[in-house]
Amino acid sequence: MRRPVACSCVGVGLVALGLVAIAAPATAAPHDKVTICHADSDVKKPYVEETVDVDSIVLPDGTLTGHSLHTGPIFPGADWGDIIPVFDYTNSGGGISTYPGLNATARRVSSTL
Ligand SMILES: [Zn+2]
Repeated sequence: MRRPVACSCVGVGLVALGLVAIAAPATAAPHDKVTICHADSDVKKPYVEETVDVDSIVLPDGTLTGHSLHTGPIFPGADWGDIIPVFDYTNSGGGISTYPGLNATARRVSSTL
């Protein structure tokens, strides 16, 4: 079992800083994995930083799945949702598609994890 890591996204004031830490201008190849802030139900620990397969966010055919369905405002809004950066992924046709992000600014993930 993977132990959750301390999330840089914890705390309202740190949410934006967390995004800056995991996002940067687009220059990278499509991603297989993306670091996100997964919404937790604990107000003392509203987000857990996770590096996940892009398939747990969007499928190659563009179908939204998994974390992309964890919608809601950024904490402390009621029923808050995940924070997912904008990223490119390989679509089912072998081309490049862009996931628009969730509760994120228009930045892209810079590293290939
Ligand atoms: Zn999630």
